Amino acid sequence: MRSFFQSVLKHIDRLDAANLREQYRLLTDENDALGRILEMTDRGVVSLDARGDITYANPAAKTLLGDNLEGALGALGITPGSALKVETSVDYPESRTLEIRTLPSERITLVYIRDTTAEKKRTEEELRAGAAKAVCDLAAGVAHEIGNPLNAIAMNIQMLERDPTDRESLEICKNQVKRLDGIIRDFLAALRIRKPVLAPGSPADPLRSCLAALKQQFVERSIHVTVDIPATLPPVALDKDQIEQVFFNLVKNALEAMKDGSSLAIEIGADDRDVSVTFKDSGAGMTEDQLTHLFEPYRTSKEKGTGLGLMVSKRIVTDHGGTIAVTSKPGEGTTFVVMLPRIERRVRQLRCRDDEAP
Ligand code: ADP
Ligand code: MG
Repeated sequence: MRSFFQSVLKHIDRLDAANLREQYRLLTDENDALGRILEMTDRGVVSLDARGDITYANPAAKTLLGDNLEGALGALGITPGSALKVETSVDYPESRTLEIRTLPSERITLVYIRDTTAEKKRTEEELRAGAAKAVCDLAAGVAHEIGNPLNAIAMNIQMLERDPTDRESLEICKNQVKRLDGIIRDFLAALRIRKPVLAPGSPADPLRSCLAALKQQFVERSIHVTVDIPATLPPVALDKDQIEQVFFNLVKNALEAMKDGSSLAIEIGADDRDVSVTFKDSGAGMTEDQLTHLFEPYRTSKEKGTGLGLMVSKRIVTDHGGTIAVTSKPGEGTTFVVMLPRIERRVRQLRCRDDEAP
């Protein structure tokens, strides 16, 4: 349809009044039909102009996000011009899980909102039901994966027995042990569906531990890491081990997406709702298609990837009442933002719910 109107536009100078009227009528019909679809659908659609002002919002968008759409989109960090996919939970007008995507083009940015509450519940039930099978599949995968590193270690230990000064064999053993550690870490994390044990704290602590664990890799690969942590931060309720796991997965992915000598910028910030931790890498970035399937299990673009890291990370953050958002452009890099709700917000939300109770 678009190409039809584009060809009309091309020849518009040659059309007479009757012809123009006819094309205009067609366009109006088309516009009406699209308008009716947008009015009927349960998917929210909002369009923003380049300044971020709302130029259109269908009824579903208001049902899902409330009448104060500008405020809601602002609170969710939606800005024009960037491709974003985020799953988030909202408490107003109703408690829901929403998937929000933005589709930017030159002049307008479309925001597409889908209610995934029921789907998520179903997925969780399916996950529980399929847990036994998943454990078997995972275990089979792990058994297969650890074979090669174990063989390599066995061989190189034999070499070391012959020549204890053989640094190359020692290096290979060390690397293979690291690889085994990674496989086991991913496996255990994928199995561990325990609820977080929350205590007040700062995400700066698990971030520091995670960076310390990876320091050697930064040095070896000349990755320039900048870390910006404000002097004071409002407390969040977190399970430090689990959040460290999330940060580790994100930084590891960033490392795997970047060339040696690239830079990674990490920043902690806070607003009146959340404390956010941003990881901005200068790696390969992701395509639209990769973004669409991000966070799904077993989706990996790596020969030795498990495709479980992000699924586990998202689950942990969701269990903390937070969200993970991602923006990415092929060739330019990827930014992940982990948002954890401030303790005051949790308390406020609980109070509101108490107040609402009859
Ligand atoms: P794995 O790392 O084992 O592949 P993950 O769940 O951690 O599994 O990541 C899934 C996929 O998402 C990766 O294979 C990669 O294609 C993509 N990805 C994740 N993080 C980044 C990033 N920072 N830059 C580019 N691609 C990424
Ligand atoms: Mg990973």
